[in-house]
Amino acid sequence: SVVNSNPVPEKNIIHRKLNSYVGFANLPQQWQRKSIKKGFNLNLMVVGESGLGKSTLVSTLFNMPMYGPKEKKDPGAEVPKTVNVKTVSAEIDEGGVRLRLTVIDTPGFGDFVNNSDSWKPIVEDIDRRFDAYLEDENKVHRSMSNDNRIHACIYFIQPTGHSLKPLDILVMKKLHQKVNLVPVIAKSDTMTEEEIITFKHRILEDIKHQEIEIFEPPRYENDDEETLVENAEIMASVPFAIVGSTQLVATPDGRSVRGRSYPWGVIEVDNEEHCDFVKLRQLIIRNHLEELRERTANVLYENYRTDKLTSLGIQQDSSVFREVNPSQKQEEERKYHEARLAKMEADMKNVFQQKVAEKEQKLKKSEGELFARHKEMKDNLEKQRAELEKKKSRLEQTRAVGEEKKSRNKFGLGGRN
Ligand code: GDP
Repeated sequence: SVVNSNPVPEKNIIHRKLNSYVGFANLPQQWQRKSIKKGFNLNLMVVGESGLGKSTLVSTLFNMPMYGPKEKKDPGAEVPKTVNVKTVSAEIDEGGVRLRLTVIDTPGFGDFVNNSDSWKPIVEDIDRRFDAYLEDENKVHRSMSNDNRIHACIYFIQPTGHSLKPLDILVMKKLHQKVNLVPVIAKSDTMTEEEIITFKHRILEDIKHQEIEIFEPPRYENDDEETLVENAEIMASVPFAIVGSTQLVATPDGRSVRGRSYPWGVIEVDNEEHCDFVKLRQLIIRNHLEELRERTANVLYENYRTDKLTSLGIQQDSSVFREVNPSQKQEEERKYHEARLAKMEADMKNVFQQKVAEKEQKLKKSEGELFARHKEMKDNLEKQRAELEKKKSRLEQTRAVGEEKKSRNKFGLGGRN
């Protein structure tokens, strides 16, 4: 499914006009029919501090309530100490086309006194999804229908009007090579038009300076003028200044629109003059969903996979080559399994050695204890012997005295009697 990147050298291709009907001109329709039958899937991650409007935006994007009413916080409940990862899925149908949407939210992000580790659970979740896919890919009976990799990550920037915060930079840098990053300015209705322009400028400067990669629709040779202009317009709006709302409000001219009502007027979500919501939806859903998925599979996942296999000591070629060379792929899978087995064996050896060492330690300890007890008993016996020895010599002394007395009496050398 690699579009527009041909691994085969050009000279091997013979260009020919067909004289009669073969039928592969029908392939796009087949593909379309199959896709429509299978449905599409999109795994969308939202990252940003609580209250920046993440759940509202998701519901606005897909035009349906993705979440139930917010759970009331129990004041007695323990406050979580880490960022959570929360997943909600929904099956949406639009004109007979099914989309299986999974939204991955990260409650708790940025809520702590020290947020320097906030990115960890997020990165772990992304990696876990890559690992599961890699595991699946290497199974004999694959079930590749489950693609749980993150296809896009909307990063919510607080509408401060200053520039990116250190936390934004840290987290975006941790994420940009693992997900398609789409930065947005949250609640942009709280800023004036001029403020937004300056803010966008500063954010883009930061992003460039920090060499943070954000998602950009790829260019294809055969893109028509209209597509090129549309893509350029989308990119010109990054970071998208968005407004989210599922509420219908009445405009002064009597229309009912999704928006937010203020004493000075109404901000319309779906009006391109008012905010960049439409551009964001174009990027994520209408125009580039497939490209988000493709970049995830062919670039982000491939990089992860290569790094992972390299860390296991396996050399490998690009996915394009793997696709065209099944024996190469098999060989690679065999190596992957061998490497995993070797790692498992090494782990087991480690555990075994540790257990042996523990046992030895214990034996040594009981040996020491035995030795101590033996010594104590020996000492005791020694003491007893010494005492007996003393007693014996006392007895001998008394006996000697008695003998002397006796012999004195015998020879009349004794006392008065
Ligand atoms: P989350 O914690 O990031 O999921 O934020 P929520 O979607 O729950 O929104 C938090 C609050 O901000 C709610 O009261 C929303 O009505 C409000 N909100 C959401 N989006 C916007 C927006 O674009 N503009 C303004 N002014 N308020 C918003």
